[in-house]
Amino acid sequence: MKLAFLTLLMIALPETAALADPKLDALLAAYPDRLASYTDDELVWKDGTRMPLGSAGARHPFAEMLERGSIREQFAIPYPLATAPFRPPATDEDPGRIRNEAFFLKMYGDCRRGEVTAKLRSVAWLPRHGGGTVRATTVNGVADQLEKVSRELDALPQDMIRYLIPTSGIYNCRPIAGTNRLSVHAFGAAIDINAGFGDYWQWTKRPEGALVWRNRIPREIVEIFERHGFIWGGRWYHFDSLHFEYRPELIALAKRGWPRE
Ligand SMILES: [Zn+2]
Repeated sequence: MKLAFLTLLMIALPETAALADPKLDALLAAYPDRLASYTDDELVWKDGTRMPLGSAGARHPFAEMLERGSIREQFAIPYPLATAPFRPPATDEDPGRIRNEAFFLKMYGDCRRGEVTAKLRSVAWLPRHGGGTVRATTVNGVADQLEKVSRELDALPQDMIRYLIPTSGIYNCRPIAGTNRLSVHAFGAAIDINAGFGDYWQWTKRPEGALVWRNRIPREIVEIFERHGFIWGGRWYHFDSLHFEYRPELIALAKRGWPRE
C-alpha cells in the first residue's frame, strides 16, 4: 500500500518538476530559441546542457555577486522601467549588472575564441541622420531588435539626435574596465550611445564615500530601448548612462511587477 502510494507520487512528480519561479519563467520566455526548462537546481538548455542556477536562498555579498553571480542572482535587484521617475539609485543598486558569465558565454559565444564575430550583422544606425552602421549579434534576434530601436530613435525630434550620434561602441571583445569579466559588448548585445552626453561612474572623480549619480539622457530614449528589450545603465548606482544592453527578461519582470522573494 505504502509502496503503491510512493510510486504514484513519483509518477506525479517527475525528476524534472521544479517549483515554479516567475524569474526563471521570464528567462525561458526571453530566450525561447536557446532555453528549454529548469529544475530546482539547474537551467536546461535546448541542446541538453545543464547549468547550476545557484542557491535559491541567501545571496552572496554584492561584490561577490558582481564577480561571480549565479543565474538566480542575475535577478537579485529589480529593474525600474523608464515610466518610474529617474532617481539616484541606492548604494550598489545595479539592476542587470550582475551577470553569470557562463550563461552569457554559452548564449552568445566567446569572442576570445572567435565565436562571436561570425554571428554579428550590420544595422543602419539612425539612417535618416547618417548614423553609420553598428554591428550586433543575431543570437536571440538582438540585431533585429536594435534595428527597431534605431528606426524609432530616428523619428525623434532633432534635439534628441545628439544623444545618439555618434555611437561610442557596440561590439568590442574586451573585459569591463578594471576587471577580468567580459563586457556585454563582447557578446555583441550592448550599445553605447554618444559618450559626449553620457555619464559613467568611472569617469567621475570618486570623493570619499558615495558616488554622485548623474544623467542627461532623456526618458524618451530610454523608453524606446526598453520597448525592444534593452535595459539602461543609467539605472545603476555604478551608473553608465550611455549604455544599453539586451536583457528582455528584466524588462518583462519589471512590466508585470517584480516578484516578491
Ligand atoms: Zn556600454
